[in-house]
Amino acid sequence: MEIVTVPCLSDNYAYLVKAPEGVCLIDAPEAGPIIEALESRGWELDALLITHHHHDHVGGVAELREKYGCTVYGPKAEKEKLPPLDTAVEGGDTLRIGGTPVEVIFVPGHTLGHVAFHFPEAEAVFTADSLMALGCGRIFEGTPDMMWESLSKLSALPAETLVCSGHEYTTSNARFALTIEPGNEALKLRSDAIAKARTEGRATATCKLSEELATNPFLRPASPEIRDRLGMKDAPDAAVFAEIRARKDSF
Ligand code: ZN
Ligand code: FE
Repeated sequence: MEIVTVPCLSDNYAYLVKAPEGVCLIDAPEAGPIIEALESRGWELDALLITHHHHDHVGGVAELREKYGCTVYGPKAEKEKLPPLDTAVEGGDTLRIGGTPVEVIFVPGHTLGHVAFHFPEAEAVFTADSLMALGCGRIFEGTPDMMWESLSKLSALPAETLVCSGHEYTTSNARFALTIEPGNEALKLRSDAIAKARTEGRATATCKLSEELATNPFLRPASPEIRDRLGMKDAPDAAVFAEIRARKDSF
Protein backbone atom coordinates (compact mmCIF):
# COMPACT_ATOMS: atom_id res chain seq x y z
CA MET A 1 0.00 0.00 0.00
CA GLU A 2 1.51 3.29 -1.05
CA ILE A 3 1.66 6.18 1.44
CA VAL A 4 2.16 9.71 0.13
CA THR A 5 3.23 12.56 2.43
CA VAL A 6 1.64 15.86 1.40
CA PRO A 7 3.19 19.05 2.85
CA CYS A 8 0.51 21.65 3.64
CA LEU A 9 0.45 25.15 5.18
CA SER A 10 3.77 26.06 6.80
CA ASP A 11 4.67 22.81 8.58
CA ASN A 12 1.69 20.42 8.43
CA TYR A 13 1.53 17.04 6.74
CA ALA A 14 -1.48 15.24 5.31
CA TYR A 15 -1.12 11.61 4.19
CA LEU A 16 -2.68 9.72 1.31
CA VAL A 17 -2.99 5.96 1.51
CA LYS A 18 -3.57 4.06 -1.73
CA ALA A 19 -5.62 1.18 -0.35
CA PRO A 20 -6.64 -1.86 -2.46
CA GLU A 21 -10.06 -0.39 -3.25
CA GLY A 22 -9.70 3.34 -2.84
CA VAL A 23 -7.67 6.30 -1.66
CA CYS A 24 -7.82 7.55 1.94
CA LEU A 25 -6.62 10.90 3.21
CA ILE A 26 -5.62 11.49 6.82
CA ASP A 27 -6.24 15.12 7.80
CA ALA A 28 -6.86 18.03 5.48
CA PRO A 29 -4.94 21.15 6.54
CA GLU A 30 -5.78 22.79 3.19
CA ALA A 31 -7.23 21.46 -0.07
CA GLY A 32 -4.80 22.80 -2.72
CA PRO A 33 -1.71 20.63 -2.21
CA ILE A 34 -3.88 17.55 -1.61
CA ILE A 35 -5.80 18.05 -4.86
CA GLU A 36 -2.47 18.49 -6.66
CA ALA A 37 -1.07 15.28 -5.13
CA LEU A 38 -4.20 13.36 -6.17
CA GLU A 39 -4.35 14.78 -9.69
CA SER A 40 -0.68 14.20 -10.44
CA ARG A 41 -1.27 10.50 -9.72
CA GLY A 42 -4.66 10.27 -11.42
CA TRP A 43 -6.31 9.36 -8.10
CA GLU A 44 -9.77 10.17 -6.76
CA LEU A 45 -10.39 10.63 -3.05
CA ASP A 46 -12.73 8.08 -1.44
CA ALA A 47 -12.33 8.63 2.30
CA LEU A 48 -11.16 11.45 4.54
CA LEU A 49 -10.16 10.64 8.12
CA ILE A 50 -9.92 13.48 10.64
CA THR A 51 -7.75 13.08 13.76
CA HIS A 52 -8.82 16.15 15.79
CA HIS A 53 -10.58 19.47 15.54
CA HIS A 54 -7.72 21.96 15.16
CA HIS A 55 -8.07 24.17 12.12
CA ASP A 56 -4.69 23.16 10.70
CA HIS A 57 -6.05 19.59 10.37
CA VAL A 58 -9.54 20.28 8.99
CA GLY A 59 -9.23 23.51 6.95
CA GLY A 60 -9.55 21.68 3.61
CA VAL A 61 -12.33 19.22 4.49
CA ALA A 62 -15.29 21.14 3.02
CA GLU A 63 -13.58 21.78 -0.33
CA LEU A 64 -12.38 18.17 -0.68
CA ARG A 65 -15.79 16.74 0.20
CA GLU A 66 -17.43 19.06 -2.32
CA LYS A 67 -14.96 18.12 -5.07
CA TYR A 68 -14.71 14.35 -4.53
CA GLY A 69 -17.83 13.43 -2.57
CA CYS A 70 -15.55 11.48 -0.23
CA THR A 71 -16.83 9.89 2.98
CA VAL A 72 -15.70 11.90 6.01
CA TYR A 73 -14.78 10.14 9.28
CA GLY A 74 -13.83 11.87 12.52
CA PRO A 75 -13.87 11.51 16.30
CA LYS A 76 -17.32 11.39 17.86
CA ALA A 77 -16.02 13.18 20.96
CA GLU A 78 -15.26 16.30 18.85
CA LYS A 79 -18.23 16.07 16.52
CA GLU A 80 -19.56 19.53 17.46
CA LYS A 81 -16.24 21.18 16.62
CA LEU A 82 -15.70 19.37 13.29
CA PRO A 83 -17.05 19.86 9.78
CA PRO A 84 -20.09 17.56 9.20
CA LEU A 85 -19.11 13.87 9.49
CA ASP A 86 -20.57 10.93 7.58
CA THR A 87 -19.28 8.52 10.21
CA ALA A 88 -18.36 9.45 13.79
CA VAL A 89 -15.75 7.06 15.17
CA GLU A 90 -14.52 6.05 18.62
CA GLY A 91 -11.48 4.30 20.04
CA GLY A 92 -11.83 0.54 19.60
CA ASP A 93 -13.77 0.80 16.33
CA THR A 94 -12.45 -1.20 13.39
CA LEU A 95 -13.59 0.34 10.13
CA ARG A 96 -13.22 -1.08 6.67
CA ILE A 97 -12.08 1.63 4.27
CA GLY A 98 -10.90 1.12 0.70
CA GLY A 99 -10.88 -2.63 1.24
CA THR A 100 -8.53 -2.53 4.23
CA PRO A 101 -9.17 -2.56 8.00
CA VAL A 102 -8.59 0.68 9.91
CA GLU A 103 -8.42 0.59 13.70
CA VAL A 104 -9.36 3.72 15.62
CA ILE A 105 -7.17 4.39 18.68
CA PHE A 106 -8.33 6.97 21.23
CA VAL A 107 -5.31 9.17 22.03
CA PRO A 108 -6.54 12.22 24.02
CA GLY A 109 -4.17 14.78 25.51
CA HIS A 110 -3.45 17.36 22.78
CA THR A 111 -7.25 17.60 22.45
CA LEU A 112 -9.83 15.65 24.43
CA GLY A 113 -11.11 13.66 21.45
CA HIS A 114 -7.95 13.10 19.39
CA VAL A 115 -7.85 9.74 17.59
CA ALA A 116 -5.12 7.92 15.65
CA PHE A 117 -5.81 5.63 12.68
CA HIS A 118 -3.94 2.33 12.45
CA PHE A 119 -3.79 0.58 9.08
CA PRO A 120 -2.45 -2.87 10.09
CA GLU A 121 -2.15 -4.11 6.50
CA ALA A 122 -0.13 -1.01 5.52
CA GLU A 123 1.84 -1.34 8.79
CA ALA A 124 1.26 2.36 9.45
CA VAL A 125 -0.39 4.49 12.12
CA PHE A 126 -1.42 8.10 11.58
CA THR A 127 -0.93 9.94 14.85
CA ALA A 128 -1.15 13.67 13.93
CA ASP A 129 -0.46 15.65 17.14
CA SER A 130 -0.37 12.76 19.63
CA LEU A 131 2.86 10.77 19.14
CA MET A 132 5.12 12.82 16.86
CA ALA A 133 8.57 12.21 15.39
CA LEU A 134 10.92 12.56 18.37
CA GLY A 135 8.15 14.35 20.23
CA CYS A 136 4.54 14.48 21.25
CA GLY A 137 1.82 17.08 20.84
CA ARG A 138 1.48 19.92 23.29
CA ILE A 139 -1.13 19.13 25.94
CA PHE A 140 -3.77 21.77 25.25
CA GLU A 141 -6.96 20.15 26.53
CA GLY A 142 -6.00 17.03 28.46
CA THR A 143 -3.61 16.13 31.26
CA PRO A 144 -0.10 14.64 31.22
CA ASP A 145 -1.50 11.36 32.58
CA MET A 146 -3.96 11.23 29.70
CA MET A 147 -1.24 11.86 27.12
CA TRP A 148 1.03 9.28 28.72
CA GLU A 149 -1.72 6.67 28.49
CA SER A 150 -2.28 7.60 24.84
CA LEU A 151 1.42 7.26 24.03
CA SER A 152 1.52 3.95 25.87
CA LYS A 153 -1.27 2.58 23.66
CA LEU A 154 0.59 3.62 20.51
CA SER A 155 3.84 2.15 21.87
CA ALA A 156 2.17 -1.25 22.07
CA LEU A 157 1.62 -1.47 18.29
CA PRO A 158 3.94 -3.79 16.32
CA ALA A 159 7.47 -2.34 16.39
CA GLU A 160 7.75 -2.28 12.59
CA THR A 161 4.73 0.07 12.34
CA LEU A 162 5.48 3.33 10.52
CA VAL A 163 4.41 6.28 12.67
CA CYS A 164 3.17 9.17 10.48
CA SER A 165 2.75 12.40 12.42
CA GLY A 166 1.23 15.77 11.63
CA HIS A 167 4.01 18.38 11.62
CA GLU A 168 7.60 19.00 10.58
CA TYR A 169 8.81 19.71 14.12
CA THR A 170 11.60 17.16 14.15
CA THR A 171 14.59 19.52 14.07
CA SER A 172 13.61 21.33 17.25
CA ASN A 173 12.38 18.06 18.79
CA ALA A 174 15.82 16.58 18.19
CA ARG A 175 17.55 19.56 19.79
CA PHE A 176 15.31 19.16 22.84
CA ALA A 177 15.69 15.37 22.99
CA LEU A 178 19.47 15.75 23.15
CA THR A 179 19.12 17.90 26.28
CA ILE A 180 17.11 15.12 27.96
CA GLU A 181 19.18 12.09 26.94
CA PRO A 182 22.52 13.28 25.52
CA GLY A 183 24.16 9.88 25.97
CA ASN A 184 21.69 8.07 23.69
CA GLU A 185 23.76 6.95 20.67
CA ALA A 186 20.70 6.05 18.57
CA LEU A 187 19.32 9.53 19.23
CA LYS A 188 22.57 11.19 18.11
CA LEU A 189 22.55 9.17 14.87
CA ARG A 190 18.91 10.00 14.23
CA SER A 191 19.50 13.67 14.95
CA ASP A 192 22.31 13.73 12.36
CA ALA A 193 20.10 11.93 9.83
CA ILE A 194 17.33 14.48 10.43
CA ALA A 195 19.68 17.42 9.87
CA LYS A 196 20.82 15.86 6.58
CA ALA A 197 17.24 15.12 5.47
CA ARG A 198 16.18 18.70 6.14
CA THR A 199 19.07 20.19 4.16
CA GLU A 200 17.86 17.98 1.29
CA GLY A 201 14.28 19.21 1.81
CA ARG A 202 12.95 15.80 2.84
CA ALA A 203 10.12 15.33 5.37
CA THR A 204 11.11 13.77 8.69
CA ALA A 205 7.71 13.33 10.34
CA THR A 206 7.48 9.57 9.65
CA CYS A 207 9.53 6.97 11.48
CA LYS A 208 9.35 3.29 12.50
CA LEU A 209 7.90 2.77 15.97
CA SER A 210 10.97 0.73 16.94
CA GLU A 211 13.14 3.78 16.27
CA GLU A 212 10.78 6.10 18.17
CA LEU A 213 10.96 3.74 21.14
CA ALA A 214 14.76 3.90 21.01
CA THR A 215 15.08 7.68 20.56
CA ASN A 216 11.94 9.66 21.48
CA PRO A 217 12.38 10.97 25.06
CA PHE A 218 8.60 11.07 25.57
CA LEU A 219 8.50 7.27 25.15
CA ARG A 220 11.55 6.74 27.34
CA PRO A 221 10.71 7.74 30.93
CA ALA A 222 12.10 4.35 31.99
CA SER A 223 15.59 5.29 30.71
CA PRO A 224 18.09 5.30 33.60
CA GLU A 225 19.98 8.20 32.00
CA ILE A 226 16.82 10.33 31.79
CA ARG A 227 15.75 9.49 35.37
CA ASP A 228 19.20 10.32 36.58
CA ARG A 229 19.35 13.67 34.80
CA LEU A 230 15.88 14.66 36.03
CA GLY A 231 16.56 13.48 39.57
CA MET A 232 13.53 11.19 39.39
CA LYS A 233 15.11 7.82 40.02
CA ASP A 234 12.06 6.14 41.59
CA ALA A 235 9.20 8.20 40.13
CA PRO A 236 6.38 6.56 38.15
CA ASP A 237 6.79 6.65 34.36
CA ALA A 238 3.85 9.04 34.03
CA ALA A 239 5.51 11.55 36.37
CA VAL A 240 8.79 11.41 34.43
CA PHE A 241 6.83 11.88 31.21
CA ALA A 242 5.05 14.91 32.73
CA GLU A 243 8.39 16.46 33.70
CA ILE A 244 9.79 15.96 30.18
CA ARG A 245 6.66 17.51 28.67
CA ALA A 246 6.86 20.49 31.05
CA ARG A 247 10.50 21.07 30.07
CA LYS A 248 9.61 20.94 26.39
CA ASP A 249 6.87 23.54 26.94
CA SER A 250 9.48 26.05 28.09
CA PHE A 251 12.29 24.89 25.79
ZN1 ZN B 1 -3.42 20.08 16.71
FE1 FE C 1 -1.54 20.42 14.41
